[in-house]
Amino acid sequence: MSQYRTFTAEDAVAWAQKFGGLDNPSVLVRAQEVGDGNLNLVFKIFDTQGVSRIVVKQALPYVRCVGESWPLTLDRARLEAQTLREHYQHCPQHTVNILHFDPALAVMVMEDLSDHRIWRGELINNVSYPQAPRQLGEYLAQVLFHTSDFWLQPQQKKAQVASFINPEMCEITEDLFFNDPYQIHERNNYPATLEQEVAALRDDAQLKLAVAALKHRFFSHAEALLHGDIHSGSIFVAEGSLKAIDAEFGFFGPIGFDVGTALGNLLLNFCGAPGHLGIRDAAAAREQRLADIREVWTTFAERFQALAAEKTQDAALGYPGYISQFLQKIWHDAVGFCGTELIRRSVGLSHVADIDTIPDEEMRHACLRHAITLGKALIVIADRIENVDALIARVRQYS
Ligand code: ADP
Ligand code: MG
Ligand code: MG
Ligand code: MG
Repeated sequence: MSQYRTFTAEDAVAWAQKFGGLDNPSVLVRAQEVGDGNLNLVFKIFDTQGVSRIVVKQALPYVRCVGESWPLTLDRARLEAQTLREHYQHCPQHTVNILHFDPALAVMVMEDLSDHRIWRGELINNVSYPQAPRQLGEYLAQVLFHTSDFWLQPQQKKAQVASFINPEMCEITEDLFFNDPYQIHERNNYPATLEQEVAALRDDAQLKLAVAALKHRFFSHAEALLHGDIHSGSIFVAEGSLKAIDAEFGFFGPIGFDVGTALGNLLLNFCGAPGHLGIRDAAAAREQRLADIREVWTTFAERFQALAAEKTQDAALGYPGYISQFLQKIWHDAVGFCGTELIRRSVGLSHVADIDTIPDEEMRHACLRHAITLGKALIVIADRIENVDALIARVRQYS
């Protein structure tokens, strides 16, 4: 029987030897903790040649970036492993492979993706992965379709929803996305020079009504098994390859939330580009991000529609025209959730490197202001932005 203890490097090596599935596990000799996230320990396990072969991830019983004063459920490791395994069944080409999971230790052993790079860093440096947007759209379509009522049988769907209840992690999203930025809160994090813009968020009735509607959908619309945190830091890329990791916020929620988070992080990169690149390169990077947004959405929508046309058995949901109507609703949701991602990453607790690592302070603040302005506009007019071309036109208008 295992019992929770925080893993040392030696524990991680032993665990990888036992559960990593290698034919010759004794070649695994050394571990290095590489976690750069906010929450967990991540060990890379190296062989005698110094090559990283296996990854071991353990949840800590508190929020790593805050400390033991903010306790957090270890059950999130189960939800992460379970979500990734479910998604892997439907989209193995774009989901990290979980090799073993131990609930008491909150430890998972997974495929090593050290030959990939985290997409966010690549986007910041404007390194191109031409297939990544299409692959992200494909990933979203596959995992969200196959966990929705368009695919699952009604009883199966309800059993699935019940086994993915994730109240503590959902509460973090509910607070950070939909509450904190719109009120005075100690978790908020923004420069004093932006006080006027942030105060305006708190005083905007139309905005707060739209945010209430988005939060309500997040609370109550169990449309599909979401990744729950699909920002560009949860996505590994390599030439011709894209893999999602880090699904501890997984739960059955509104499909537009995952799509909007993915699009929102491309827009955050758009906002930050002038702070990292020269004028000409930033302009080109911005055009590329808009093209990426178009490709993520159109691939997602086309693939989801095709899967539904081919596979949906339900007599009502399969009625001609319903899937198009549903995708139009998902689109409007995605635009709204995308706006909340822009604002919570500029005003709230957790920021993105695309903007936060801009060396010039004035430029950094200008990019934050841009993200707030754009986010606010998207939330308020989401229902009037009819398609991805209209979104791109609005982004240009607010840039
Ligand atoms: P957290 O939940 O704490 O954010 P992540 O799952 O995002 O943890 O992992 C943190 C970091 O560890 C990633 O950004 C990446 O650098 C590294 N990492 C995680 N999983 C893998 C993997 N399968 N292969 C290689 N590196 C990984
Ligand atoms: Mg992470
Ligand atoms: Mg995480
Ligand atoms: Mg419409």
